[in-house]
Amino acid sequence: MKIQLHISLRPYNTMHIDVNSNAFCVIHTESDLVSAIDWCYQQNMPLHILGGGSNVLFTKDVEGLLIMNKMKGIQIVSEDEHFVCVKFMSGEIWHECVMWCIEHNYGGIENLSLIPGTIGAAPIQNIGAYGVELKDVFQQLEAMELESRVKNIFTVDDCKFGYRESVFKQELSGKFCILSVTLKLSKVHTYHTTYGNIQDELNKQPTAQLSIKSISDAVIAIRQSKLPNPVQIGNAGSFFKNPLISKAHFTTLKNQYPAIPNYPDKDKVKIPAAWLIEQCHWKGFREGDYGVHAKQALCLVNYANATGLQIYELSARIITSVQQAFNITLEREVNIW
Ligand SMILES: Cc1cc2nc3c(=O)[nH]c(=O)nc-3n(C[C@H](O)[C@H](O)[C@H](O)COP(=O)(O)OP(=O)(O)OC[C@H]3O[C@@H](n4cnc5c(N)ncnc54)[C@H](O)[C@@H]3O)c2cc1C
Repeated sequence: MKIQLHISLRPYNTMHIDVNSNAFCVIHTESDLVSAIDWCYQQNMPLHILGGGSNVLFTKDVEGLLIMNKMKGIQIVSEDEHFVCVKFMSGEIWHECVMWCIEHNYGGIENLSLIPGTIGAAPIQNIGAYGVELKDVFQQLEAMELESRVKNIFTVDDCKFGYRESVFKQELSGKFCILSVTLKLSKVHTYHTTYGNIQDELNKQPTAQLSIKSISDAVIAIRQSKLPNPVQIGNAGSFFKNPLISKAHFTTLKNQYPAIPNYPDKDKVKIPAAWLIEQCHWKGFREGDYGVHAKQALCLVNYANATGLQIYELSARIITSVQQAFNITLEREVNIW
């Protein structure tokens, strides 16, 4: 394991923000991780973990050692005629694992096709798309506590999953490195095709039989047409969460904005953040090298050399204007560093 000093993190985050890290290394094994922790203790430096860098916004140089996780491996741990439990090492690329599952006809994560990043980061915000969340297929994860180097198993209850939330974003933030994630996948599938325009996309391929592959293909086609590709334009996907508001608040807004899109969610109502941002005329906004994507109001973008601070300040301006117009406080989904 080689530790590099003072390197630019621009190639390692999908926002393409150019900050430096005091120290940087790539880990391939658990013993690399332990060596990295030891090094940090010797140097009295903090340690930070990065996967694909697709859900972080660097607003300043990183103090300490940044480790990039490339621990690989896929292993079937148990199976019967209905289910298979597969353990994925945390440095595996999420979308490659989805493709592996489809090849093996293991169902459950096809709706989560093309989400960037690693397996190890997926539980951090309980990734979700097109009506499915990680928690729906989650069996357990193994993580190492950075301070004690003790390995712990976390069940679904231990993870306290919520909408783009988990215990790892809250009270255990920065305390554990996730080593592996085990998913319980189906051999006899239940298809989720009602969310968004999956069904419309499937209808475009009338000869294709409904399968986990056809759903994955539909999700990929929709995502490619709607979301900016981080290789071409710096972004971190949805910058904000969709807010949940009370029914009373919704009734007031509905009177004022009869077309307000809404999704009932238990005793609350979910409002698409993209709609709120569009109403405040941010869609397509550009100032210098930063702005809001012209096709997707939820994506803040770096056209070339924007700083993380400029993008953060833009997000603060958007939050203020949505607050003033709708009395709704948008929450950032992206991790701010
Ligand atoms: C174009 C685009 C589309 C996206 N679409 C979606 C979507 O549909 N749904 C969705 O939920 N998200 C989406 N995202 C967000 C992102 O892809 C996910 O949050 C993904 O899980 C992040 O993975 P990563 O490896 O890049 O994490 P990183 O950005 O590297 O890290 C994110 C956080 O997780 C921590 N972390 C990473 N690995 C570990 C580990 N092994 N142990 C402990 N902590 C760790 C980091 O310290 C950091 O705090 C999208 C992003 C982009 C750019």
